[in-house]
Amino acid sequence: MIPILDEQPGIRPEVLGYLEELRSRDFDGQIETHLAARLAVATDNSVYQVLPDAVVFPRSTAAVEQLAQLLGEDRHRQVTAVPRGGGTGTNGQALAPGVVVDLSRHLRKIGPLDLEAGWVEVQPGVVLDELNAYLKPHGFFFAPNLSPSNRATLGGMVATNASGKGSRVYGRTADHVRSVDLVLVGGTRLTLSETTLERAEHTATIDAPLGRITRTVLDSVCNHARAISQVWPDIPRSLTGYDLSSVLRQDRFSLIPVVCGSEGTLGFVVSARLSLTPIAKARRLLAIRYASFEHALGAAELLVSSNPTAIETIDDCVIDLARKDAIWHKVSDLLGTGEELGGVNLVEFTGNDAVALDQRLERLTKTLDAELARPDGCIGYQVVTEPRQMDALWELRKKGVGLLGAMRGQRRPVPFVEDTAVPPARLAEYVRDFRALLDGAGLKYGMFGHVDAGCLHVRPALDLRDPEDEARLRWLSDRVLSLVRHYGGVFWGEHGKGFRSEYVPEVFGAEVFAELCRVKAAFDPTGQLNPGKLAVVPGSQQKLVSIDAPKRGALDRQIPPASQARFDVAIYCNGNGQCFSTNPDQVMCPSSKLRRDRIHSPKGRAALLREWLRLLGKRGVDAGQRLAELEIQSDPLLEWVDRFEAATSAKPAYDYSHEVYQGLDGCLSCKACATDCPINVDVARMKSDFLALYHQRYLRPLRDYFVAGLEWVLAIIGRLPRFFDWWMSIPLIKLALERQVGIVDAPRLAPKSLERALSERGIERFDTREFARASETKRKKTVLVLQDAFTTFYEPNVVLDAVELMKMMGYRPMVVPYFANGKALHIKGFLRSFRRLAARNRAFLHQLSALGVPLVGIEPAVTLTYRDEYRQVLGEDSPPVRVELLQDWLDEHRDQIEALAPRDRAGSGQRYLLFGHCTEKTAEPAAQGAWQRVFAAAGLDLDLAEVGCCGMCGVFGHEAAHAEESRGIYKMSWQPKLAAAKASGTRVVVPGHSCRSQVHRVDDTIEQHPVQALIEALRG
Ligand SMILES: Cc1cc2nc3c(=O)[nH]c(=O)nc-3n(C[C@H](O)[C@H](O)[C@H](O)COP(=O)(O)OP(=O)(O)OC[C@H]3O[C@@H](n4cnc5c(N)ncnc54)[C@H](O)[C@@H]3O)c2cc1C
Ligand code: SF4
Ligand code: SF4
Repeated sequence: MIPILDEQPGIRPEVLGYLEELRSRDFDGQIETHLAARLAVATDNSVYQVLPDAVVFPRSTAAVEQLAQLLGEDRHRQVTAVPRGGGTGTNGQALAPGVVVDLSRHLRKIGPLDLEAGWVEVQPGVVLDELNAYLKPHGFFFAPNLSPSNRATLGGMVATNASGKGSRVYGRTADHVRSVDLVLVGGTRLTLSETTLERAEHTATIDAPLGRITRTVLDSVCNHARAISQVWPDIPRSLTGYDLSSVLRQDRFSLIPVVCGSEGTLGFVVSARLSLTPIAKARRLLAIRYASFEHALGAAELLVSSNPTAIETIDDCVIDLARKDAIWHKVSDLLGTGEELGGVNLVEFTGNDAVALDQRLERLTKTLDAELARPDGCIGYQVVTEPRQMDALWELRKKGVGLLGAMRGQRRPVPFVEDTAVPPARLAEYVRDFRALLDGAGLKYGMFGHVDAGCLHVRPALDLRDPEDEARLRWLSDRVLSLVRHYGGVFWGEHGKGFRSEYVPEVFGAEVFAELCRVKAAFDPTGQLNPGKLAVVPGSQQKLVSIDAPKRGALDRQIPPASQARFDVAIYCNGNGQCFSTNPDQVMCPSSKLRRDRIHSPKGRAALLREWLRLLGKRGVDAGQRLAELEIQSDPLLEWVDRFEAATSAKPAYDYSHEVYQGLDGCLSCKACATDCPINVDVARMKSDFLALYHQRYLRPLRDYFVAGLEWVLAIIGRLPRFFDWWMSIPLIKLALERQVGIVDAPRLAPKSLERALSERGIERFDTREFARASETKRKKTVLVLQDAFTTFYEPNVVLDAVELMKMMGYRPMVVPYFANGKALHIKGFLRSFRRLAARNRAFLHQLSALGVPLVGIEPAVTLTYRDEYRQVLGEDSPPVRVELLQDWLDEHRDQIEALAPRDRAGSGQRYLLFGHCTEKTAEPAAQGAWQRVFAAAGLDLDLAEVGCCGMCGVFGHEAAHAEESRGIYKMSWQPKLAAAKASGTRVVVPGHSCRSQVHRVDDTIEQHPVQALIEALRG
């Protein structure tokens, strides 16, 4: 039995006092101090981990003013705070002790919008992609782009002066901010915008915070102009944050360059008025392939001369990692599969005149054609005009950081020198020296970046659990700083300073650094905001933070070895936040999207588990070891003794394991994270492991036994479907099922069992002897169809139609007798039972496979369990048994479908739209394409709907505790997309049983399985 983890890290008394007073003033927002909430904001994408005392989520701007006002009161001067947005910082910018003020949960209002004047106002929690989706119908977008555009917030972008693809043309965030509303410690709200120097001079005389700030900044820029002009290099990615070099432009004065990039050290950004940029009418992308990264970098000058909007370079390391990612499926045709690919340049042209764009493109491709003849030039290129394909290539580029994290081995790429920028003309030279440094240290790394802006992304691979590698980080960091200064570049070219602030005095020099500190003091005289970052209040005890700040690796190394191995993906989660995606039409991660609570994301869950493993380790328990024992242990008596002890022992007042349980409880086990996360942080698998140990101590809810045993129960009640449906319709039984077992909206069983229907239609059941007696020709035509609990007992017609189609195609389908597959056992963490069942089933599947005939599963989630969960608990099987997805088998034999297709199909105009199953979409990205090919063979057009998760996931949606969440998820993406498809007369097909069942439950309509639509069409 696992021990109780009843120690809670303390909260500083001054913070407790502050929060108590905040509560007493009816603070409009949430105040959270439990460990899970604190852990969820203790990391970002950096190597650091800093546990704050508390996290607060203001619901309104007034609430931010309220909390800031209280911070400014004398008795709370010891309390420090840090604003937080999407938490995608790569250098611990938003990590600090004290109070984290998370502005991303509630402050998400967009508007007002003034198209004439070309601006929009946003609250700080708005995510960039959300803003651009809002602006798109109006023909505008917010130009600064950054890779994590689906989770980084505008507040964070302002505070880091973010930029990315296209920055050579569009500039950085500061270039697009017309005004910004900043709340200072003390509660004063300032609206900062560009003004005349004369007005600024007047403001400087006022005895108020804005007067003090203006006075200080004016004094700095006027009296230290010479030093300032020497510090800021004149390169596309110059220094940002407290940018004194840009405050004065002729007779104009602006504090916006000071605030943009100030990393939450000056005030809380509560609103910003942003400039709009018209969306270009035409877009072209050129994907140029090179034999090496150096060749790709070397081409920068040539490419820049054609004046594209963006040039982005990717190296062979990232490309190789992409080959193993779901993204490769979308881009491989465009990049070619050749091993010789050593670097890629993505060159984008945008404009309103498509003809002019094509001419520019043609000029460039002519030059490239000439290059192709040279051995050191490009090795090929592809002009891409199809928007989906262009988006896929940009997605590959955006995934770069995440992909690097997927590098195998103990050492993983980590950010700390990942955004240096040098004059673009010197980039190739600089990269050569940088590489020499890394190679000399024996480190692996991946590189990509904004070649047109001279900004390079490099993440050397280190294992920060190893103290020697931790020391290497400092060694390398110091050397890269010298190198970048030697090339006249900047160390912080894109991602801000954060814990790299220790270098600020060295880079800025004593004179300018003193001015930065004066600016800090003018905005935040008591130094309570994000202390130690960028600058310190002169005369205070505060010190600049350093890259030696507490690292996650130091905590991870306390996790016992077997736990590190078993939960490796939780440790390798690099916090890049791809799983925070707010796009409802992406599968990743439905619970995170609905709840908007970082705890309920794969990253949050991985963090909870790491701490759990560490705390168990401190109590002498290696969870990995325990799980290994549990899987093979076969002493039920011992288990029941444990349970009895657990049930009768006193309930602890606090056990951290409960927090982990709560954090995992909302996980649908949809497995989107297992594949869509670049590190494959498979939360579903870890949840199963966690539950197995948790329920050694704590009794399971009845619901878990019901769900886990359903496959067997259905085999019994499925014989008398009408009786059980009647039984289940009795209100008292329904109520008991809901209240006592925790199950709601149980679907009705099919009135006629599959068994009976098969007999009536004379469809063969598989029988070894029967099979052996059949002629060779018959055997060759045999296909073994595996049953699953869902289609067999609820939708036997789907099985019958699949079998019917196989017969029409000239095959001899034989339905294998029903057996339980055990997926629910795995989901609920009945690990030992699952392992036994999986071993038995795999042995049986081996016997079937030995007959040399294909095995085909109907239900995708169940079929994929044979591939994934079975492999997880049993290891790789050799030779592997392959249970094919139905569409893969149909695809292999689509010539027979072609032969069946009516000749006059063309012109029917009927379109079909496939609403895919999320596990299938992510685990087997090519599987949906197979349906398209099969439909095309039948002369039908099938499109793929871009939808997220339907919210059902097996029986998750039928669990009373999750029913509301499940419906909420359905309403985010499926419901509107289905309604739109139907309104346009498109026929919808849905391959997943749970998805069909969810549509039926919420919208009361019955959708067809693709095979049903196919059969109907083939029969004419
Ligand atoms: C995979 C990956 C790729 C990246 N690529 C890019 C890129 O292409 N270009 C780029 O510029 N950056 C990039 N970054 C860095 C990061 O995404 C940006 O710095 C981003 O702007 C941070 O936004 P956020 O909402 O996540 O802010 P957070 O990380 O939450 O905070 C960042 C800083 O802003 C402050 N802050 C946040 N909100 C406020 C507010 N309302 N008021 C005051 N201060 C606030 C915080 O205190 C902190 O100092 C990348 C990061 C990752 C993980
Ligand atoms: S779970 Fe995956 S996607 Fe999410 S932060 Fe971790 S590594 Fe990134
Ligand atoms: S399994 Fe699905 S719901 Fe659970 S964490 Fe992963 S993506 Fe989120």
